[in-house]
Amino acid sequence: MAVPARHTSKTSKRMRQTHYKISEKTTTKCPKCGAVIKPHRVCKECGSYKGKEVIDVKTAE
Ligand SMILES: [Zn+2]
Repeated sequence: MAVPARHTSKTSKRMRQTHYKISEKTTTKCPKCGAVIKPHRVCKECGSYKGKEVIDVKTAE
C-alpha cells in the first residue's frame, strides 16, 4: 500500500533500496570483427550491421 513519503523514514527507504540492484548490461559479439557490442546497434569497430557495412568508420571520425 502506498505510504506518504514523509511517513517513510530515511532508514526504511534505505533498507528497501538495498534490494534494488543495477542489472548487468546485455552485450553481443559483432559477427564480422568479433568486438563486444550492444545488440541492435551498428558496430563501432567495423561499421557493420547484420553483416552489411552501414557506415564508413574511417570517414566518420
Ligand atoms: Zn564489427
